[in-house]
Amino acid sequence: MSKTVLVTGATGYIAKHLVLQLLDAGYTVKGSARSLSREGELRDALGPRLSDPSALDRLSVVPLDLSSDDGWDKAMEGVDVVMHTASPFPLSQPRDENDLIRPAVDGALRAVKAARAAGVTRVIMTSSTAAVVTKDPAPGQTQFTENDWTDVTHPAATAYVKSKTMAEKAVWDWHASDAPDMQITMINPSFVQGAPLDDNFGTSIQVIERLLKGKDPLLPRFGFTCVDVRDIALMHIRAMERPESIGKRFIGADRYLWFQDFGLILKAQHPSRKIPTRLAPNALIRFLALFDPSIRTIVPTLGRKDVASGAQAEKILGISFRNVEDAIREAGAYLVERDLV
Ligand code: NDP
Repeated sequence: MSKTVLVTGATGYIAKHLVLQLLDAGYTVKGSARSLSREGELRDALGPRLSDPSALDRLSVVPLDLSSDDGWDKAMEGVDVVMHTASPFPLSQPRDENDLIRPAVDGALRAVKAARAAGVTRVIMTSSTAAVVTKDPAPGQTQFTENDWTDVTHPAATAYVKSKTMAEKAVWDWHASDAPDMQITMINPSFVQGAPLDDNFGTSIQVIERLLKGKDPLLPRFGFTCVDVRDIALMHIRAMERPESIGKRFIGADRYLWFQDFGLILKAQHPSRKIPTRLAPNALIRFLALFDPSIRTIVPTLGRKDVASGAQAEKILGISFRNVEDAIREAGAYLVERDLV
């Protein structure tokens, strides 16, 4: 009998790739969605891409909300492993940071506690490099590793950064104090790129959409370590399959790219489109941020180069990170081919 994996937030951009790889690898998947009305969307996205379309018979969908206790007991029935990916990831930061922090932290604790109550001890959780890199590096430090923890009091710690850091910490703290029997692995993706499986994509692809629409004439001087979405899905599965991963965090990272590199990659691919490639002075970005909340999010990170290392995932999970520049091109091609930009 194949293992049954509960994937929370199965309607998400990363989770759809994860469910696809799990089904292709022979696992049975329970995917959670806030609304069961999204089940058809999930099946439509996965069906045509599965190596064996009958693998869809191994997928079921259950309703779960991070902010409600309803349904968690039932969702855990028959489950061997929980992959907790659900967490809010909006493009703009909310006025009240608790709008992100509460569902992220409470939802993560709901997921692990419900798992334990049902006797499910294996959990793989999707954290983020947001929980790693938002801190001042030590003198001489050139990259961040799994030993680093974001400082939530740092000026660059947005509501999202806090939500991911506090959710991950809450789970490790609960594990240490109340549930040492739980076998937990954290996956900490950097900025994820790659073609989505359908048009209901999240913030990762909205960033590419914004560039391809030529909405901004100039680009801010900021960037991120980036990674291919297929590698992040694979990391979750390898973590489940390799007991050496238990108790560890794993950064998913190919290379660091400035936002300007995103513009240059997309412009080279779509030369006739109006795509920004020139840098904006930091002072201009700070001024524009007064009016645009999605710009405000990046002001504290202007000029910072927070490089995160994927070496531990290469070594223990056996991941050879793909060139994320291809993933950016594939995301761009998806949006252009489907006339979405
Ligand atoms: P998406 O926005 O596409 O997916 C987020 C998922 O979380 C969706 O399924 C969403 O459900 C679900 N969710 C959000 N709020 C709630 C809630 N209150 N109750 C139940 N479900 C909820 O984002 P990604 O796929 O990009 O992100 C998936 C995970 O990966 C998140 O934990 C994110 O923090 C993490 N991550 C993402 C990175 C990236 O670059 N994309 C980088 C690092 C980490 P619904 O579809 O109903 O909105």
